[in-house]
Amino acid sequence: MAPIHIPQTQTAALVSKIGGELEFRDDYPVPEPGQNEVLAKVLYTGVCQSDLHTKAGTACDATGQPITRIKLPHVGGHEGAGRIVALGPGCGDLKIGTLVGIRFISRVCRRCEFCLTGVEQYCSKATNHLHHEDGCFQEYIVLDANYLTVLPDDTDPKVIGPVLCAGLTAYKAVLNTNIKAGNWLVVVGAGGGLGHFAVQYAKAQGALVIGVDTGPSKRDFVLGLGANEFIDFAETEPVSRVREITGLGAHAAVVTIGSAKAFAQACDMLRIGGTLSGAGIPYGDAALERPINTIILKGLKFTGNLVGSLKECMEAVNLVRHGFVKPVITVRPFRELKQVYEEMERGDINGRIVLQVGE
Ligand SMILES: [Zn+2]
Ligand SMILES: [Zn+2]
Repeated sequence: MAPIHIPQTQTAALVSKIGGELEFRDDYPVPEPGQNEVLAKVLYTGVCQSDLHTKAGTACDATGQPITRIKLPHVGGHEGAGRIVALGPGCGDLKIGTLVGIRFISRVCRRCEFCLTGVEQYCSKATNHLHHEDGCFQEYIVLDANYLTVLPDDTDPKVIGPVLCAGLTAYKAVLNTNIKAGNWLVVVGAGGGLGHFAVQYAKAQGALVIGVDTGPSKRDFVLGLGANEFIDFAETEPVSRVREITGLGAHAAVVTIGSAKAFAQACDMLRIGGTLSGAGIPYGDAALERPINTIILKGLKFTGNLVGSLKECMEAVNLVRHGFVKPVITVRPFRELKQVYEEMERGDINGRIVLQVGE
């Protein structure tokens, strides 16, 4: 194989200060892979809502405070696919040309309790491609060889990016509801990036799915994904409609939008013993405004979801490879990221936008 030419500089989309404008730079340095690191050429990247929040300074931590420890300049992008083009020392049997994923979590310690129990996304020493390391809104990216997302050869790099963040989060949110075949599961925000995955992963588990969103385009889209019912929340009061459809209320609700009102409503949609699974992240310290008695006396369960583990990521990927879940994506040129952000803010995207970064 002819040696792969790796340039010294590359095109990257970056913001120099949080809250600042996105700019494209063509003289951004190509990083060099260090010990146990690979260099990957980015092919495609999805655009996630949290990229938008980090850039705008509206991303908040577990206490509801704005996240301020962000590497500058900030290069977003954490749901991408690329190919290994160079290996640093100590990469073992990894091969040039291997298809790899770029995910939210970039590195974990592999020693702490969370790393050892399969929830390494909560590792206290974890770093990520959103706040600490440059993501895949650039042509070349350095990745930790010891925590590498190696994708099977038959994976379609065009569609897989969004599976690695939105898809994984939706998959995990569905798993955490412990839904059984034939149970009712409501997806709030069903037509969005996260939501369109949640509908399909819930169907893959055999659930009966009610999608909640608004507008005729979202209705067609969500029903087209296989949802059994659609509720347009602007036309119909969703809580009573869910009760009409399900009788006793839904067994589970997955909330994919960061709205406190949506969480409160979802709580009211549940039947006795139901599970509320949260995946959308509200701004600031928004609280779940429901009486504690509702939770206790109805025996409700509440579960939060921060992406998922690497193993769960591969499960989510496999369901796509085997055709159970079909990411709905629109491919756009890398240079259109700014317009894509504007469209995301207006909320008028069905599924996910994927940017083509390389060939
Ligand atoms: Zn994300
Ligand atoms: Zn750890």
